[in-house]
Amino acid sequence: MKEITLGIDIGGTNTVFGAVDHNGKCYFEGRIPTQEFKSFTEFVAKLKFVFDQEVAKLDFPYKFLGIGVGAPNGNFYTGTLDMAPNLPWRGKVEVAKEFNAQFDLPVWVTNDAKAAAIGEMMFGSAKGMSNFLVVTLGTGLGSGFVVNGNLIYGHDGFAGEFGHVIVTPDGRDCGCGRKGCLETYVSATGIKRTVYKFIADSIQPSSLRALSFDQLSADMITKAADAGDPIAIHAFDYTGRILGSKLADMVNIFSPEAIILFGGLAKAGDYIFKPVQEQMEADLMPIFKNKVKILPSVIHGSNAAVLGAAALAWKELGFTVK
Ligand SMILES: [Zn+2]
Repeated sequence: MKEITLGIDIGGTNTVFGAVDHNGKCYFEGRIPTQEFKSFTEFVAKLKFVFDQEVAKLDFPYKFLGIGVGAPNGNFYTGTLDMAPNLPWRGKVEVAKEFNAQFDLPVWVTNDAKAAAIGEMMFGSAKGMSNFLVVTLGTGLGSGFVVNGNLIYGHDGFAGEFGHVIVTPDGRDCGCGRKGCLETYVSATGIKRTVYKFIADSIQPSSLRALSFDQLSADMITKAADAGDPIAIHAFDYTGRILGSKLADMVNIFSPEAIILFGGLAKAGDYIFKPVQEQMEADLMPIFKNKVKILPSVIHGSNAAVLGAAALAWKELGFTVK
């Protein structure tokens, strides 16, 4: 009998889910559009419908043990989504209750970045580590802090908002309503803002000048850097140094063994890793120097978010990393 958990990643556009065993092997993956469902109950019913079709194709005996859900503003303590931006359901959404009612399985909920951190601990770059930080670099900047083998949730479930530490007082406007937060500089959106600032401030030639803000992607900035574009290279350096400096501050607080960078911007390789590492080392207190590794995630790929959500269920079911 194969024991599996269901990992569900609720995203602004699509919701992806998959059946994952405790070694991180994914047996199927399905997806439904998130925005089409006015009520959360209808959304869960559709997911269950697609899930049942996929499950029917499994050709071995299996048992589902639980469900892990990663979603923006997912709250581990309450099993709810609280005021999630970019999702069609308003107010407090009873995620754990609704999934439990339709699947009859235990359900755990957290935000997507915290799920990614548990995924790294069970299946990825943080295997065997007890103290580390995962930074997800997507549209925004998410994070999951693991201390003594446990994710930090804080008293209300929302701990670990590294993306909203302030780097520049009165700096760039942030979606959270404040100014100068880290994610306004260090994220796919942040580096785009930096590219446009550099374009405005300099007269250096750049292929990026011809693109509108909405056309530009982090991937295009990497390609431009590969082609030697000075604005693109400078933008990565600037972004990496801001992140490196703030990571040095975080090291002071909980002395991690490693910091793992996950998500689109992390795929830029040395363009981002080198300035992050250099600036972090430069800013670390002497007792911490040359001790903290900066690593890429090894579970990049289409099902990374699903693996993270499934890992949450495995962890809460009491499975430890082998
Ligand atoms: Zn903010």
